[in-house]
Amino acid sequence: MVDYLIVGSGLAGISFAENALLNNKSIIVIDNNSQNSSRIAGGLYNPVILKRFSEVWRAKEQLELMKSFYAIIESKLGQQFDFKKPILRKFFSIEEQNNWFTASDKPSLSPFLSLTLVTDTFKGIDSPFDYGQVLHTGYVDTAALLKSYKLYLIHLDVLREETFNYAELSNKVDYVQYKDIQAKNVIFAEGFGMHANPYFKHLPLDGTKGELFIIKAPELDLDVIVNTSVFILPLGEGLFKVGATYNWKDKTNLPTEEGKVELLERINEIVTCDFEIVEHFAGVRPTVKDRRPLVGTHPEHKNLHLLNGLGTRGVMLGPSMAKVLFESIEQGIPLDDEINISRIKPKHYLL
Ligand SMILES: Cc1cc2nc3c(=O)[nH]c(=O)nc-3n(C[C@H](O)[C@H](O)[C@H](O)COP(=O)(O)OP(=O)(O)OC[C@H]3O[C@@H](n4cnc5c(N)ncnc54)[C@H](O)[C@@H]3O)c2cc1C
Repeated sequence: MVDYLIVGSGLAGISFAENALLNNKSIIVIDNNSQNSSRIAGGLYNPVILKRFSEVWRAKEQLELMKSFYAIIESKLGQQFDFKKPILRKFFSIEEQNNWFTASDKPSLSPFLSLTLVTDTFKGIDSPFDYGQVLHTGYVDTAALLKSYKLYLIHLDVLREETFNYAELSNKVDYVQYKDIQAKNVIFAEGFGMHANPYFKHLPLDGTKGELFIIKAPELDLDVIVNTSVFILPLGEGLFKVGATYNWKDKTNLPTEEGKVELLERINEIVTCDFEIVEHFAGVRPTVKDRRPLVGTHPEHKNLHLLNGLGTRGVMLGPSMAKVLFESIEQGIPLDDEINISRIKPKHYLL
């Protein structure tokens, strides 16, 4: 009998797995590589929604928790994943500069928006109106993290690389039986793959496809993250990650010509030097209409739990949502109404 059977090893699944292991719980993880949102993500963390000049929901708490969370994994796996880097907002006008300073007066944003304009010049980008710097930012190399964490799970002999077949799950009173596995609880963390899950598929997980590039631009001299209509993230050796698009109709993981054209247009608005596309990725973000995660326990099957809806911010949200779900299962600490799946009418859960 294991404590937790975890379906999915994206940011949600590994966040829960790590929480469980840190609390001496036994786990088995099943993943079939069908979704790649976590693997291809930009990995940026930024406490401010720059488009609307508002604070990310519970940003301070999330930042605090995620920093210690990734630090623990880094020390355990002996590899760096969390790279603290400034995010600079490029201004296109004096008006944009003024909006920045107005926003930085808001008490919720003042800890995060620097009052000093960044006047540095970066070869390959023209910015006559300078930049504003967001504080407490950086990125997690999610591809490296997932790869190493998977090796760690293999080393623990707890990873099964296969498709979870929902028809083979049988709910007993105090546990579940899945094939040869008996587990006290199942954590479903399938990202957009949740739509195949008969227990939770009616929850309003929209899915927003995103595409991004790795480009090679040897003349672009940039060691910070620049954010405008796209972000440009330096990876070293003349390589940059650039993204991302938002498409609410197409729900596939395939890169498209439309996405390529859109990204190229946006890059050309900012980058003035030559570049070539090295890689082109796509994935579906597990987004929810009310922009809150989907976390909680099935109303009829008390051993089945959901950790999903991390949307556009899996890096910041994953660790904190995994923690509160774990505490709600193990210690009965109630989940916040804003994230609890119980906020959605129960008829949606019932088979
Ligand atoms: C282009 C793009 C850019 C992004 N940029 C950022 C960013 O800069 N910062 C940020 O914080 N977030 C970003 N995100 C969002 C972030 O990637 C997501 O919030 C996060 O990855 C969601 O993680 P998840 O584990 O819930 O889902 P996923 O990463 O989709 O993981 C789900 C896992 O479940 C597995 N699975 C599904 N169904 C089954 C099944 N039946 N059997 C077995 N396994 C199954 C899948 O194979 C997958 O491994 C971006 C996303 C995209 C697409």
